[in-house]
Amino acid sequence: TETEGEYTLTYRVSDSWGNEAVAERTVEVVDEVLPVEGEKIIFLTFDDGPGPYTEKLLGILDQYDVKATFFVTNVRPKYQTCIAKEVRAGHAVGVHSFSHEYRKIYRSEAAYWSDFNRMNDIIKKQTGKPVTLLRFPGGSSNTVSRNYKEGIMKRLAKQADAKGLTYVDWNVYDGDAGETTSPHQVYKNIIRGVKGRKKSIVLCHDVKSYTVNAMDRTIRWCLAHGYTFKVLEP
Ligand code: ZN
Repeated sequence: TETEGEYTLTYRVSDSWGNEAVAERTVEVVDEVLPVEGEKIIFLTFDDGPGPYTEKLLGILDQYDVKATFFVTNVRPKYQTCIAKEVRAGHAVGVHSFSHEYRKIYRSEAAYWSDFNRMNDIIKKQTGKPVTLLRFPGGSSNTVSRNYKEGIMKRLAKQADAKGLTYVDWNVYDGDAGETTSPHQVYKNIIRGVKGRKKSIVLCHDVKSYTVNAMDRTIRWCLAHGYTFKVLEP
């Protein structure tokens, strides 16, 4: 079902007396392309970095002059300087989380904002300015946080608004957080997701080697099909 073409399906049945019957059917798998009028925009977003593959990703983005948005963490502190490089290269940076530990950050509103501020301080140190963009770990409607504090996401979303912060979810997911480890599948997931959309916010993780390895051909496909890449503005 993933690859276009004409296929022959063969059905073969037999019963306990050894009677057999065979039937064939031809199936055509076609690419479902919905026509989109006007500008088609893709916001590539990378969560959970920076990490060992971020530098390589920055090189690929640069090669095509594509700008992306990074929602950063402090999970791998030795790559902190990548945050400065991201901003210098014209990408947008937002807070994802300092620790990225759901159990800690979603224990209370105060715990969330304390984690947020720690990450924002690191970004400030790297780039000279605080951020106004954020992405909640798990997204603004995640259900995991319920295990730690019922109703916390709604309250955090309201508080973010009140602080003048913009939180961003996604409408396309590349499947790289457990569903696949194949660059080809990541590429296919993104293409399938952006097709037929005027505005795609694509969730990816730059801490996965296979995601970074999928980017070259993903970007080439999108550019060849008339998509424009933009950074999220607060
Ligand atoms: Zn994350």
